[in-house]
Amino acid sequence: MVLGNYKNCVSARAADPAVLSASQDGGIVTQLFAFALEEGIIDGAVVAGPGDEPYKPEPIVATTVAELMEARGTRYTICPNVAMIKEATRSYGLDKVGIVGTPCQIQAVRKAQLYPMGMRSVGDKIALAIGIFCMENFPYQGLETMVEDLCNVKMESAVKMDIGKGKFSVYTSRGAVSQIPLKLTHKFEQPGCHVCLDYVANLADVSTGSVGSPDGWSTVLTRTKKGETIWGKAIEAGYFETKPIEDVKPGLGLLTKLATEKITKNQKTLDERATFGVDKGLRNPYI
Ligand SMILES: Cc1cc2nc3c(=O)[nH]c(=O)nc-3n(C[C@H](O)[C@H](O)[C@H](O)COP(=O)(O)OP(=O)(O)OC[C@H]3O[C@@H](n4cnc5c(N)ncnc54)[C@H](O)[C@@H]3O)c2cc1C
Ligand code: SF4
Repeated sequence: MVLGNYKNCVSARAADPAVLSASQDGGIVTQLFAFALEEGIIDGAVVAGPGDEPYKPEPIVATTVAELMEARGTRYTICPNVAMIKEATRSYGLDKVGIVGTPCQIQAVRKAQLYPMGMRSVGDKIALAIGIFCMENFPYQGLETMVEDLCNVKMESAVKMDIGKGKFSVYTSRGAVSQIPLKLTHKFEQPGCHVCLDYVANLADVSTGSVGSPDGWSTVLTRTKKGETIWGKAIEAGYFETKPIEDVKPGLGLLTKLATEKITKNQKTLDERATFGVDKGLRNPYI
C-alpha cells in the first residue's frame, strides 16, 4: 500500500479565486484551513509563514484567514512546523490546532500524540493534520544555490518554485521562467530524506499534492474519519470544486508509480546502512 490507507480520493481545487491566485496547486491547504477556522473546527493552524529571507519559511500559528493567505505556496526547504504545536497550545492558548506538514512532520505529530515526551496535553488538541506529498526537501543553502547559480534568478525575484515533469522551475515577478533538469538538484537534497518511506503523508487526516491532477488542481486523499467528515462538510458548503480522480489525467497511476519509486529507492538506502562499515552498520530508525 504505497499510498497508505485512505477512504476517498478526488481531484479538487479551491472555489475562492483569491485563494487560488497564489496557492501552489489547487489551494487545498489554505482553503481547508480557512473553512475549518470559520466553522470553529480549529482555532488556529501551524503553517509555514514568511521568514526573514526570501523563500526561507518560519513556522507560524495562523489564527486568521489573512495569515493563512500569507503562507500560501511551496517553499522547498525545511520549515520545522512541529516545533510550534506545543507553543500553539501554550502561549497561543489554542484548544483545536490545525497543522500542515510534509509526511515526516505528520509522522512526528502522530508520534507526539502516542508517545508524548515533553508534549503533555498537546496530543488531544490536534484537530486537523493536513499532509502534503513530498519526494525530497533541500537545506536553504542548497535551494539558494539551485535558484541563484543554476537557474540564474535572485531569490528575491522568485514568486513561485515548482518541481514537476522532471524539472525544477523558478518563476519570477517579471514573468520569466527558469528551469533545470531535476537530476542537477539531486546533490542538494537533504540527506535525511534518503531514508524516508512515505510519499503521500500516510498518517494525515487529509493528504494533498499536485501529482495525479492537472495544473491548478490537486489530488486529495481523505484518510481518517475526521478528515473525511471535515472534507465532506467543506464540499457541502461549496468551498471546493471536485472531479472523480478516475476522470482526470494522469491520475492515481502516476501517483502510485512515484510513491513506489521513492519507497523502493529509499528502502535500498536503508538496507545498505546495515552493512555500511566493516562489521558495523548505521542505525535504522525503523527497527
Ligand atoms: C519540500 C516539499 C516537497 C514536495 N514534493 C511534492 C511532490 O513530490 N509531489 C507533489 O505532488 N507535491 C509535492 N509537494 C506539495 C506541493 O508542492 C504543495 O505544497 C501541495 O500540493 C499543497 O498545495 P496547495 O495549493 O493545496 O497549498 P497552498 O494553499 O498553496 O498552501 C501550501 C501550504 O504548505 C505549507 N508549506 C509550504 N512550504 C512548506 C514546507 N517547506 N514545509 C511545511 N509546510 C510548507 C504552507 O504553510 C501552506 O500552508 C511538496 C511540498 C514540499 C514543501
Ligand atoms: S522526503 Fe521525507 S524526510 Fe524529506 S522532507 Fe519529505 S517527508 Fe520529510
